[in-house]
Amino acid sequence: MEIKAIRGFNDILPDETGKWQFVENTAREVFEGFGFSEIRIPIVERTELFSRGIGEATDIVEKEMYTFTDKSGNSLTLRPEATASMVRAYLEHQMYSFDPAAKLYFIGPMFRYERPQKGRYRQFHQIDAEVFGVGNPMVDAELILMLIHFLKKVGLEQLELQINSLGCRDCRPRYREELKKFLTKISFRLCEDCQRRINTNPLRIFDCKVKTCQEAIADAPKVIDYLCEDCRRHFGKVKEYLGIAGLLFTLNPRMVRGLDYYTRTAFEVVSYQLGSQNAVTGGGRYDNLFQEIGSVDIPGIGFAIGMERLISLMPEGKEFIRYPQLFIAALGEGTFKEAYRWINQLHLQGIRAELDYEGKSLKSQMRRADKLKARYVLILGEEELKRGRAVLRNMNTKSQEEILIDNILEIIKNKIVLD
Ligand SMILES: [Zn+2]
Ligand SMILES: [Zn+2]
Repeated sequence: MEIKAIRGFNDILPDETGKWQFVENTAREVFEGFGFSEIRIPIVERTELFSRGIGEATDIVEKEMYTFTDKSGNSLTLRPEATASMVRAYLEHQMYSFDPAAKLYFIGPMFRYERPQKGRYRQFHQIDAEVFGVGNPMVDAELILMLIHFLKKVGLEQLELQINSLGCRDCRPRYREELKKFLTKISFRLCEDCQRRINTNPLRIFDCKVKTCQEAIADAPKVIDYLCEDCRRHFGKVKEYLGIAGLLFTLNPRMVRGLDYYTRTAFEVVSYQLGSQNAVTGGGRYDNLFQEIGSVDIPGIGFAIGMERLISLMPEGKEFIRYPQLFIAALGEGTFKEAYRWINQLHLQGIRAELDYEGKSLKSQMRRADKLKARYVLILGEEELKRGRAVLRNMNTKSQEEILIDNILEIIKNKIVLD
């Protein structure tokens, strides 16, 4: 029986990995330029970390986690997101003792048991960036600037930055109560899920996709009108620093983010490319998360980008596949050994060169060079070799020239570099 990949777990094949590498390399370059360092966290953690960190009344913890019992009877979970693990690592290794401010980023796969659909997998990939230990609104704007800069560098255009403030543990409970009061009054107009959410997680009603729910909550109270003095000042500063950073933004009072732990600044980036509106990524401040995980008061802010989504939004046209720069078509035993020596030299110098391994005819070697989309083909026959010459063919222009074998590697390298 043929063994296939598990549903929701997919292979990323060589003709796609160029795009992935480009996105990952761009993230590393941009983030490190902003003073961030990479952290690598384990794939498996104690289940408790996520139930405490993400919150029991969330879809992730309620239904989407890959949880299992190991041979010692511990309940373990494949990480469904990165922030909780990064917080755990920061506390466990007392990274704050060196410097309270830690700027960290992470790239890797996450696991959620969701219904697989086009572009949505159970093993998916995220790019995460987090700043721990700084509550200053300056860092909120700095992180957002870094995010927008990264998205533009990978080719996204027509982006809109939306921001909101979700308040803190002093002012949000009051808002929650007001929202609950409002929702209870109109509960008959809400879907079943939303009716349940009134008591478990009322803010999540804003994320409901049901049209009648959206209509019913059109006049719901806005969190921004319930902010305490500190939160209002913080949000004012975030807007001021975004202005200094040269970023335009729109206020979206209905953006509440799915997770319980967000406080104060919340943001999302929306793309209007291709004529439709797509949420690209989002994030926010979570000054209570450290309380939940480590009973300490440390502020944090971060964002997560779904890589599958990001890659699907990248413009077409940019070439990511790396084709051979040179194909050597050697004919005859003696020439083959010479070609083998050259190709090793080229590889050692980082030039992508291919050789025919089968000793086939010139015609079939040229066919292969064409299929592999090689830029140049070096044709080497026994007769030419004796005369100290070879033929170099440019596969784009179809022009070819005879070149001398002394210095052949230099000649080829110059051609390829100039191309
Ligand atoms: Zn507040
Ligand atoms: Zn609903």
